[in-house]
Amino acid sequence: MLLLGKPVSPGVAQGLTHVVDGRPLLTAAVSIAPLGNADVELQRLRDGLDLALAQLERVQRQLYGQLDPDDVAIFSSHGSLLRDRHLIQRIEQRIRDGGVSAEAAVGHVVGELYQQFLSNPVSLLQDKAHDLLDIGRRLLQCLSSGGRSEDEPVARKIVVANSVTPSELVRFARQGVVGIVTETCGHKSHTAILARGLGIPLITGIHSPAESIPDGVASYIDAAQGRVLVAPTSADHSLVDQFLAEIERSKQPPSDQVDAPVTRDGVRIQVLLNISDPSEARGVRDWQTDGVGLFRTEFLYIDRPGWLTPDESYVIYKQVGEQVGDRELHVRLTDFGAEKCPAYADIPISRNPSLGLRGIRLLLQRPDILQAQVVALTRLARERPLSVTLPMLDTLDTLHQAYVEICRFAGVSSRDKLPFRLGTMIEVPSAALMIEDILPHVDCISVGLNDLIQYLFAADRDDEAIERYHDPMQPALLRLLRRVIDACNAAGKPLTVCGELAGDPSLTALLLSLGVRRFSVSRTNYLSTVQLIRTLSCAELDGLATDVLRMVSGNAVRNYVAERFGASREEW
Ligand code: PEP
Ligand code: MG
Repeated sequence: MLLLGKPVSPGVAQGLTHVVDGRPLLTAAVSIAPLGNADVELQRLRDGLDLALAQLERVQRQLYGQLDPDDVAIFSSHGSLLRDRHLIQRIEQRIRDGGVSAEAAVGHVVGELYQQFLSNPVSLLQDKAHDLLDIGRRLLQCLSSGGRSEDEPVARKIVVANSVTPSELVRFARQGVVGIVTETCGHKSHTAILARGLGIPLITGIHSPAESIPDGVASYIDAAQGRVLVAPTSADHSLVDQFLAEIERSKQPPSDQVDAPVTRDGVRIQVLLNISDPSEARGVRDWQTDGVGLFRTEFLYIDRPGWLTPDESYVIYKQVGEQVGDRELHVRLTDFGAEKCPAYADIPISRNPSLGLRGIRLLLQRPDILQAQVVALTRLARERPLSVTLPMLDTLDTLHQAYVEICRFAGVSSRDKLPFRLGTMIEVPSAALMIEDILPHVDCISVGLNDLIQYLFAADRDDEAIERYHDPMQPALLRLLRRVIDACNAAGKPLTVCGELAGDPSLTALLLSLGVRRFSVSRTNYLSTVQLIRTLSCAELDGLATDVLRMVSGNAVRNYVAERFGASREEW
């Protein structure tokens, strides 16, 4: 069966399918091997129970006042189930007697009770079966947040799921997944960004894949073309050959001869990398890029049992620093909030996550998280040059508060004594509009187009249904960008455009023409961005921005740019 979808993250792979929604989590848990002896597994169970209870209490607190008290009560009844002495003793017994993992014991015990309750004619007990299943799932998720290695079920497999969250993506990646097929996944969502950064092929737009694709069948995925070949038969041999040829081609080592990003008229453009995982930093060495322009640190906290300590953070940052060498390294403070939260986070869940507490605002309310990170960054900055970037800055008031806290945790009396440079993301329109006033207080600017567009046009970046409103060709954005770029140039402060659109070939010429000279792009876009830059000439692009900034509609800009591109790229 050949299925066609939309490419999200390129790459080709073959493997057995692993359908996430189609097979009961409890059944899958039964085959998870123990990490240690019974004492280790009993401790893991206790930690998992504590975490699950803390999550339930947090959800409950958040929902009071938003939901009917009867609806909120369901969470307290789930909490009582998780404290049920008989249930816990039964799970513990299974760990001791069976020598199994905490996950397997939960899978067995909850699975058995579920069946018993479900087959009971009393409807109240049938309802209880669903509650049990729910707490079983929650407990398993809390247990698995500790992370596993090759013995995980998705190693070398193609995950099929209706949707995949960023934390699931990180977990699958660490387990060695080779490809992902989903029904929904926004192109600029963090799941998509992570998949591209980590080099995991991802195809979306396949209708109900968890229901239509069988589990455990040999399959092929060519995410550049959006094609999935499921359980091929002998009649599909020529298709299989095509997939295999692509897989062979993808194994060829990339040419180590990477040209410098210089335009035809000799302007050296800086092209840096966006990374979310330390493993991605090797791209800096492989391609001799200008460094890491955006290190998204929030994903380091996902798929772990708890918060990173300053020492643990330092080790990771140092590892990245070693890959980056003497090139630029811009580490962004954690941008928790929205869907980017680890399972153990005791962070409020907002009714509207993109507009809720996140980024630097959240860090100012959670000095414990900020402190651990600043302490680790201060230590690294005493060893190598470093730039620290504030996420989601909104106002100067927040900037000043951030300085006070950062100086306190870095152990310095004033900001000119900080051992690192301090930059800020410009991704909230209020900050973009105050750029001239923000610039004297920071060393550099990173424009985050994903969020700037989301907030400027009130268009959720993760919602495919309104993707067309997430439009970088709109004059409102281009005029705002012009203002930010001009202000940075006038102040002599470097500006880097990052976010997924920084590597979008339809925008490169426009951004150069607006005066952008620094791009930070994901790994998958690096080589194509450099190649494209080498075909362009800044001198010839000069008039483009002037023409486009006079236009009043996105379609007019799009048509104009397409016409110029369509004619011949040499013309630029
Ligand atoms: C952005 O918003 O463009 C950005 C770079 O940050 P993130 O994608 O991590 O939100
Ligand atoms: Mg952002």
